[in-house]
Amino acid sequence: MPLAGLADILTEARAGGYGVAGLVVQGWEDAKSYVLAAEQAECPVILQAGPGARAHTPLPVLGRIFAELANSAAVPVASHLDHAKGLDEIKQALECGFSSVMIDGSEMRLAENIELTCRAAELARLAGASVEAELGFVGYAEGAASVMTDPQEAGQFVAETGVDALAVSVGNTHLQTGKQAVIDSGRLAEIAAATANCALVLHGGSGIAAPLRARLAAERLVTKFNIGTELRQVFGAGLRRYLAANPGSFDRVEILSGLMPDMITECRAILAGLRPDRTAPDAQAKKLRSTSQ
Ligand SMILES: [Zn+2]
Repeated sequence: MPLAGLADILTEARAGGYGVAGLVVQGWEDAKSYVLAAEQAECPVILQAGPGARAHTPLPVLGRIFAELANSAAVPVASHLDHAKGLDEIKQALECGFSSVMIDGSEMRLAENIELTCRAAELARLAGASVEAELGFVGYAEGAASVMTDPQEAGQFVAETGVDALAVSVGNTHLQTGKQAVIDSGRLAEIAAATANCALVLHGGSGIAAPLRARLAAERLVTKFNIGTELRQVFGAGLRRYLAANPGSFDRVEILSGLMPDMITECRAILAGLRPDRTAPDAQAKKLRSTSQ
């Protein structure tokens, strides 16, 4: 199917009380693995081009990869520009056909962040794309510290910018290699109440335990979880195992193809964990009842 819009995917997910993963892509093999995993889990998925991937591979190439995978996928696939700091990157992504863009004014003062986000949102709307912004600052493990999102500011921000999705800082941190994030659920609930028509996003989803991710989604507090580190760890561990087991290997295609089955399995588990409605026995029974009526 053609590329899906982020807003459409998130609206449906919120209504259904499940979460959607925004998966950080670094190349063809992981992108392909993620879409195959999404098909197996019968979940929508968001393929994300982040700053690291863009520095390594030109954005138009990533855009073509995402569109190609979406076109042949049996589930909705959105292509998303992650953490654009300025409008030039937004324009380039929209020209490349991305169905969603994130403008990151999180290090600016509130008024400046609102102004930049409004301009990005206008460009996105003209191109028929969705827009995500960030308020507060999601910090980095062993890097810049977080600034928590203020619920009142979040309400004002969403009302003035009309964004489809808002990334918030409530104890989540980028690049965590363990499940150590402690989420401030009270603050999150206040933000959700103040931004009723906007899907909330947690960057640093790798640091959040899977049952907590599922609960936050089921309570309709968070709809999109950005996940990168967790799957990069799977890749790194798989690569070490593969090379140890195949010391004579030197062919890139052979090696990377050999890693894909594990990538698919692990990714499928992450995606399925965000929508327990697909696996809960009573949900399945409900589904059976509704199809037999
Ligand atoms: Zn992020």
